[in-house]
Amino acid sequence: MVVRRAYWAIVLWGVGWAQRYCPVDRAFLRPFPPAVSWREALTDTLWVPVVFHVISQDSAGWLPAYRLGDQLAALNRDYKAAAIQFYLPRYGPQGEPTCGLTWHVSPLGRHDWTTEEDTLKKLCLWPPDSFVNIWIVDEMVLSTVGYARALGDTAGIPGIVLVKSVVGNRTGVARPFDWGRTAVHEMGHVLSLLHPFEGGCVGTTPQTCAMEGDEICDTPPQRQPAFGCPPLTTNTCTEIPTDLPDPVDNFMGYVDDSCMVRFTPEQTQRMRLYLQGIGGTLISPINQQRRGWGSLADSACGVVLGLPKPAPSPLRFWREGTLWRLEGPEPIGWEVWDAWGRKITEGTTRSFDEQVLPAGLYVLRVHTPAGLYTIRWYRL
Ligand SMILES: [Zn+2]
Repeated sequence: MVVRRAYWAIVLWGVGWAQRYCPVDRAFLRPFPPAVSWREALTDTLWVPVVFHVISQDSAGWLPAYRLGDQLAALNRDYKAAAIQFYLPRYGPQGEPTCGLTWHVSPLGRHDWTTEEDTLKKLCLWPPDSFVNIWIVDEMVLSTVGYARALGDTAGIPGIVLVKSVVGNRTGVARPFDWGRTAVHEMGHVLSLLHPFEGGCVGTTPQTCAMEGDEICDTPPQRQPAFGCPPLTTNTCTEIPTDLPDPVDNFMGYVDDSCMVRFTPEQTQRMRLYLQGIGGTLISPINQQRRGWGSLADSACGVVLGLPKPAPSPLRFWREGTLWRLEGPEPIGWEVWDAWGRKITEGTTRSFDEQVLPAGLYVLRVHTPAGLYTIRWYRL
């Protein structure tokens, strides 16, 4: 039994210093026999549904919805050349109308991915064969800004975890990682890509380039990751028969957001083939039909994502003693569930008193037109 670990992380050590931690299981990411040609023609656009789960320790810390819309647009900007596009579903796992955005208040908003990866993901998980889940947290241990697990990974739940400061597009926050390209890089991992510097100077010949390093022949190997905005003449490995410069402007490197600009043709083909293989259910016509496939403008989220910038959180809630108060401009419906999954009470008022509940763990679910909000708490 081989223990499979296939996840990658981008870690920042303080402002301006970058360091990453990326254990990789190479066998897992070799889903195609080497005989397969990557040179499939770019045909139809592949449409992939994504869902954002915003998890904060405090509802005041939720990222405004427009940042999620901007992040989606940044993904689509950078994947356009690969003819892969992402959309927010109009219908959720049970066919219920949705914006593809969920909001949670939980201590897990401070995320320790070394021990709490599964706990965080199970806080809200939509079927990973039907959606790419993207969890967004307040902060992560070890100054990590993002990590990803590929589709079909049996050792863990596939998807992307991002720290909220890097979500959006040209936000000016978390410079130089502020163009939404942490998500672009992590999505590359979800779709099976490795770093060009994987393994260092290996796969330097036409005979080995598809089997070693990042297993991609048109990304010359790199001895180590480059940071900042290095010159395009950077060359740390010697390839045979032609020595080529390092792919320092590649989305799968660690350079500043403004200096990573492309996937290569072979990376594109590998992602597209992965989506048509292991990720096939995501893009299947039946999934598109269930999810209400359509453009962003057409999505039920248009109103939410189009909120003025900076958009206030559409729902506020807080507690006064045992009284929970909810405030929002829209109609609200709420339910309280216990730890055994039983619905205890529900209502449409703007407050409820937890005094009626015996001690124990509860989940409050609040439905608004802007999305579903959940709050977990322990009633003492
Ligand atoms: Zn990475």
